[in-house]
Amino acid sequence: MTAQLIDGTALSKLLRTEVAERATALRSHGITPGLAVIQVGENPASHVYVRSKVKACQDNGLHSVLEHYPVTLSETDLLARITTLNNDPAIHGILVQLPLPPHIDAQEVIQAISPAKDVDGFHVASAGALMVGQPGFWPCTPYGCMKMLESIGCELKGKHAVVIGRSNIVGKPMALLLLQKNATVTICHSATRDLKAMTLQADVIVAAVGKRNVLTADMVKPGAVVIDVGMNRNDQGKLCGDVDFEGVRQVAGYITPVPGGVGPMTITMLLFNTLEAAERSLMSV
Ligand code: NAP
Repeated sequence: MTAQLIDGTALSKLLRTEVAERATALRSHGITPGLAVIQVGENPASHVYVRSKVKACQDNGLHSVLEHYPVTLSETDLLARITTLNNDPAIHGILVQLPLPPHIDAQEVIQAISPAKDVDGFHVASAGALMVGQPGFWPCTPYGCMKMLESIGCELKGKHAVVIGRSNIVGKPMALLLLQKNATVTICHSATRDLKAMTLQADVIVAAVGKRNVLTADMVKPGAVVIDVGMNRNDQGKLCGDVDFEGVRQVAGYITPVPGGVGPMTITMLLFNTLEAAERSLMSV
């Protein structure tokens, strides 16, 4: 068997058309969805992510402001800036690019963002809403993975899903979203004793670890759906995921590539969340 690709770039293109249409509809009500992106310091990866996010907004009818501060910015000044953005009616979503410099407490900063503008879905209010199944903002990466599963018509009810990784931004919310769709969910992590025994039972596997070849062909049930969230570099310096793509594609039913899989979907769901925040602001007028 050779797995079918779930093409995140193509799916993103389709979904971004919907974003542009909804943004146009909002503009007819006098609202341009606005995202503020805050970057502190000169982390090279952050430069790339921030630029991609701002460009995606511009390309799809959203307003975006990039605020880039020197690494010396104090936590107090950053918190003051967030308060101002929380009160700015032209801004519907606020994103603080992580990592922050070590002298700034990232949790303090994230919790300072108004939950109504928490388009990254990292605020405890967003996490709590997801936990109890209430409306809120879902973290963009797991949200994008769910859209990918939806795009292939994957019926999750009663399926066994194995999530590898339990971070607050990917693994845990991913597991909750799968649970919401009535999958039976197993969460694996660095202390899991026999990862292969778990993954071999899975109809759906989501790998979110940050290590190459965490999932190899012998660990996958024939026909399983494999979503690769990982972003790593191979020996040649090329971007790759957590999954041994060439091996696993011979066994799986569906697989996401890296690059061109979950990555573009994460940015697309950021646009969705920003749009959603703007639509909610219209409803609350
Ligand atoms: P993280 O916070 O470092 O979490 C990694 C998780 O993997 C932890 O829960 C860890 O377990 C677990 N783990 C480590 N080694 C393991 C092993 N050998 N077997 C099973 N589990 C193991 O990372 P993250 O923020 O969730 O990100 C995960 C990966 O996704 C990274 O490569 C990141 O770059 C990528 N990512 C991609 C996107 C995208 O848009 N494509 C977005 C976000 C993240 P413990 O909890 O026990 O330590």
